Amino acid sequence: MQQKSPPHSAADAHDHAHDHDHDYEAGALSPIALRVRALETVLTEKGYVDPASIDAIVETYETRVGPRNGARVVAKAWNDPAYLQRLRENATAAIAELGFTGRQGEHMVVVENTPGQHNLVVCTLCSCYPWSVLGLPPVWYKSAPFRAKAVIDPRGVLADFGVTLPPEAKIRVWDSTAELRYLVLPSRPAGTVGWSEEKLADLVTRDSMIGTGLALMPESVSPEALSKGASA
Ligand code: FE
Repeated sequence: MQQKSPPHSAADAHDHAHDHDHDYEAGALSPIALRVRALETVLTEKGYVDPASIDAIVETYETRVGPRNGARVVAKAWNDPAYLQRLRENATAAIAELGFTGRQGEHMVVVENTPGQHNLVVCTLCSCYPWSVLGLPPVWYKSAPFRAKAVIDPRGVLADFGVTLPPEAKIRVWDSTAELRYLVLPSRPAGTVGWSEEKLADLVTRDSMIGTGLALMPESVSPEALSKGASA
């Protein structure tokens, strides 16, 4: 399902090919982590940043913000035509209505899957991602193979993720930037008429909102699982 492990960043690139991640010795930091630590130290010493606020930001995105936010947006759009319209007109504002705002969520655009068009989001340049609705990006999203292949062979990428579309369905690839971040609105699964937004949200996976997946079919979700993950 997932991509192979990505090559490493320029900071620790090397010339041999392999498909496992490096394990750094216990206690040792990767080159990139060392650089980040050095930068943070300098910025803190000069008084440009407050380590406590950095910790608070990381904490927020690691534990409190995640794809569940995006799932609520999608479920509401499926159930509420007026909300869908607001999402089309100004996604940033419509998403903010649910309280999801903040860093890397300032300029949102929602792209709707239809029977004739599937949408796939990538950041070819780096790893721009809508943090406010999806949390932090998965490793594969940041990987060079995904970023390159999404543009050259989007159907192949979908196959890697186990998604097969009808041959007539077009795939549109959206390249995220610091200015624009995309959220895919997956198609509502059949057999969900009358479902509550909470129940619908359980069908919305992170990958379905990036475009590397589809919303789950109702029969693939056990009745116990439904609503168990429902947020307060
Ligand atoms: Fe980026």
